[in-house]
Amino acid sequence: MTFILESTSSFNAQPNQSLEINTYKYEKSDFRIIFVDVPGPLCSTTILVPTLSPNDKGLPHTLEHLIFCGSKNYPHRGYLDSLANRCLSTGTNAYTMEDCTGYTLVTAGAEGTINILPIFLDHVIQPSLRPYQFLTEIYHIDGTAKPKGVVFCEMASRENTEPDLLDLHLRMNLFQHKSTYSYECGGLTKDIKNLSNDEIIEYHKKFYDPSNVSVIICGLIDKEKVLKSLEEVPELLCSHKDSSVIDIPAIEYPPLPNVENNLISETVHFPVSDADVGSISYAWRGPALENLKDIIGLDVIFRYLYETSASPLCQRFIERKTPLASDVDFELKGTVDSSLLLIFSGVPYITEGSKDQGDDEEDNVEDSNILDEMSISKDNGNNIIEEDEYNDNLEDLFKPGVFFNKLKEIFKNFAENGFPNEEMIKKTIDRHRIKIYEMLEEDPHEVLTNYIIQDLLRYNFAVHSELHDAKHENATKPIIGTRSQIFDIMKELETYPQEFWKDLVKKYILEPPTIEVLMVPDPELANEQASKEIQDQEDRIKRLGPEKLKHLDEELKKALKDNEINIPQEVLDNMPPIPDVTKIPLFRGEVSIKQFLTSENDEEYNNNNNNMLSSSMKDDELPSPSQLITQYDLSRPFSSLQHVKTDTFFTQVKVYLNTSHIPEELRDYFVLFQEMLFCTPVEIPKEFTKDHQPKLMDYKSVVENTSELCTSNEASIGIGNEIFHASYLSETFVISASSERYKYNELCEWMMMILMFSKFDEERIISTAKNLLSQLTETKREGSDMLSAISTKIIAECNEDRGNTSLLNDLAISVFNQEPFLQKIISLVEEHKTNEIIQNLEEIQKCLLKSMEVIAEEAENNKYSPIYKKKEIIPGFVQLAMPLDYENDPIEEFLTCWDKCYKVYQTSIKEKKYDPMEITMMNHSHNDNDNDNDNDEKMEDPNDDDHHHHQKKINYNYLYKITSTFPFPRKPFNIKSIDEAHQSVIVPIAGLCTSFLIQYVESEILSPIPNEDFYAVTVLAELLTRTEGPLYTSIRGNGYAYDGSICLYLWSGQLTFSLYDSSEPQKATMEFYQIIEEMNTKEGWEKICSDFHIDTAKASVVYKNVSSKSTASGVIYSYLRGALRVIIK
Ligand SMILES: [Zn+2]
Repeated sequence: MTFILESTSSFNAQPNQSLEINTYKYEKSDFRIIFVDVPGPLCSTTILVPTLSPNDKGLPHTLEHLIFCGSKNYPHRGYLDSLANRCLSTGTNAYTMEDCTGYTLVTAGAEGTINILPIFLDHVIQPSLRPYQFLTEIYHIDGTAKPKGVVFCEMASRENTEPDLLDLHLRMNLFQHKSTYSYECGGLTKDIKNLSNDEIIEYHKKFYDPSNVSVIICGLIDKEKVLKSLEEVPELLCSHKDSSVIDIPAIEYPPLPNVENNLISETVHFPVSDADVGSISYAWRGPALENLKDIIGLDVIFRYLYETSASPLCQRFIERKTPLASDVDFELKGTVDSSLLLIFSGVPYITEGSKDQGDDEEDNVEDSNILDEMSISKDNGNNIIEEDEYNDNLEDLFKPGVFFNKLKEIFKNFAENGFPNEEMIKKTIDRHRIKIYEMLEEDPHEVLTNYIIQDLLRYNFAVHSELHDAKHENATKPIIGTRSQIFDIMKELETYPQEFWKDLVKKYILEPPTIEVLMVPDPELANEQASKEIQDQEDRIKRLGPEKLKHLDEELKKALKDNEINIPQEVLDNMPPIPDVTKIPLFRGEVSIKQFLTSENDEEYNNNNNNMLSSSMKDDELPSPSQLITQYDLSRPFSSLQHVKTDTFFTQVKVYLNTSHIPEELRDYFVLFQEMLFCTPVEIPKEFTKDHQPKLMDYKSVVENTSELCTSNEASIGIGNEIFHASYLSETFVISASSERYKYNELCEWMMMILMFSKFDEERIISTAKNLLSQLTETKREGSDMLSAISTKIIAECNEDRGNTSLLNDLAISVFNQEPFLQKIISLVEEHKTNEIIQNLEEIQKCLLKSMEVIAEEAENNKYSPIYKKKEIIPGFVQLAMPLDYENDPIEEFLTCWDKCYKVYQTSIKEKKYDPMEITMMNHSHNDNDNDNDNDEKMEDPNDDDHHHHQKKINYNYLYKITSTFPFPRKPFNIKSIDEAHQSVIVPIAGLCTSFLIQYVESEILSPIPNEDFYAVTVLAELLTRTEGPLYTSIRGNGYAYDGSICLYLWSGQLTFSLYDSSEPQKATMEFYQIIEEMNTKEGWEKICSDFHIDTAKASVVYKNVSSKSTASGVIYSYLRGALRVIIK
């Protein structure tokens, strides 16, 4: 045995689940392999190399790229990723940080990992590092004198963006330009130009000795097999260095200078298309990595300070009539001594110059008067914060120290008073604990790997460790698994007095110097940089001359040829077989669907009296057609429910409400509405209060209650909502929340309170609208966000079907519509027309909550409505997800709660029914009633005695088709709807350094069901797109774009070709067309689509499928997706 078990520990990833961590060390070197027994289908590997940056040339990052180009024993480029795909993975990947480089692999099942690991390690330890690889992968000048290379282009597209500049400048100041943390480990383009291949070879020698390398494997894997497979390749494990000499230094922290006001401030301009908003960020040095008490303590304090909109930082800077920022984010970064980062984004950038321009001035004066008036009228109202005690001048925000002084007040206040009360300490720790459990359930592999990396970094780089396990103080082994104590420490912290918390803020925030970076938006800089690039190229053409350029072009061609993927057939034939898919350990899951039918129909299907069909459908069965036309119970807005049980710690409720009956002019309000829910006052009806008196909860109490009860919560249009864009199912409005299991009933009731009894007020409207507008400005700067916004606009606007709810909603929530709309909202408030906004928000709420019966009834009264025309109602639906051993009947519990709340809600609506405003809004024509009532299907309804329209209730089941939601009716993409003028569009965006492109074709392969093309198209897309596949090689390999891919959107029936971060979109697109043309020839087809490649692509598809169900939430979502679109195995 040449591996020795060095240490063992365990980690409680869930309260009732303990995972074992085992560290093995190679006998003859410091090479380690650490196993974490994470359950589930995936096995993830990280090969970790601690690496430092001595400058901005990007040595660790450029080396990271070259590792994948071939190795001593596997010189063929592409071999590694073909093997990875065949081992049920999507390929290998890597990342570079300031203090380490990680090489990662995730496989479905463990067999693939065992096959790949020795080969992956061969690449890491013995890469070929040939000069031609440097040329294509890192940097070269092409025949037109353009600087190119994959890494060069990657960094060129990133280095001038706001997030990258912000991050780098915070670090440069925090580490005083003297540490690995103060350099750009990815490389700055100006320095990459001066980098040579030899420097990279030297760098590899120094940092990539096996004695510096560790492997972390999370998953259920046969450890003996892994160790044995490595023992067979001792050259990858034995050190090439004299072990008594440590030639890699520790990371030392240079002292911070004494400065005035204890603040080191820097102003950085970034190129961008508008000058509306910037960001302001702060950094401090945090506790050493092993000081978990202080680390968790600070995490808890910041969670209290920034997390919810009721928190002190949000209250002070964001949730205001005049917000000073639209978002705040905190990060405790695991540098060798940790760093604390606090970032305010969406900070309004208003200069004195912009105020002095003519007409504007008057407006501004007027504005401030209106604001004053507003605050006066507000004081007469009930209990809202008086924010005017603050004197914020927006013009000053970007002056050094101005924002900081406001921020410091918050910290000073905390250092003096601590948490508002002991209760709050406990609540915040509780919240912190549950968020960590949630994170561990969502992504145990990444979280646990990162915990272990922190132990390894301390061992390798700390000057000193309180645990005495730093290499540089002569320790011989790291203590692995220190984070297993976090839950115990949290328990301990609950007992600590206020002094402990106050001292933390003094020690880490108030006493040491603070770093401030002010990020100023600068549209001129964008133009300058663009013209400089053109000038530079012209200069290079002159300087190099045609001869030299021709030579460069020839060299490049040789290099590309040298790097081509050309794996000999016998090498391919010798690849191990694709692992047995059936052996992958899958998550457990049970699913059933219930449809709510009227009691008279109910009896046909079951003998239950509780109004639901419990002859449930298992797994992938579809409702049979006879069930589709049965008599639904119309008394609620939804008709069916999916119930999932799986390996989860949490209970989850999602209610999907249809929006097709909502008047078009109200759709503009969706975004405002979704963002306000959970953050707006709620009027709890007397039936639900202790003292039987109705109670108005102010929005801060609503926010606090939500964060106490819900692990997470959301309101949105559709699935995959990013505020101004939904992935799909945008015809529905979704409200969802999750909680610990014992809070489930409370969770249901709270969601109903939010949905049914939320109230809207001016205070919340103005602050939400302003913050949304800031976020919108930031969205407009993102190439990929704008690409989807523009596509949506074209597809939706060219499609004239006003009955296509999904497209109407997509368009309504898009940046193009929301920008003018939000501006209108802000001016309406300023013109004292807030009532109009409130009425519209209330109207949306009311519409969403209409029972199917009311929807039908109203459609009968409005012959122009799409519902009336189609005679079809698409109801909402519900999904509940529970732990496998949940004791009670969650469906019964949910329905009981819903019906109780809904009854109270309906009564409250009826009381208000004769509001004249409302009637104009609804656009009703009450006279239409008479004709429609003489229908045969009338029924007596004894319960409905106060119905004011007519005495007899119609059974709308016979008038309207109630569509089943499982599967959900789709409207696939129709390319013919797009007129010629919109078939090809180019949109210039200043400030972007690279281009983004997308092309759509129709690919309706969900209908008819089953459609056998589904499998073929899926495999084809994967075959073309996979790492080191045809698109990857010809587009990324040539440096035309960072990524080019074919993607199949099943729901909308679209097949797309897209480019991400492209420096040459035209050339990249031509490469794609060439591949397609080549596939049209016999020879080309055999080359691109050989059996080998098809098998590899299939294996890769299998991986993606397993991986999408590798967590509890993945399992829950895949059941829903399956039911909505018909399960495809
Ligand atoms: Zn990279």
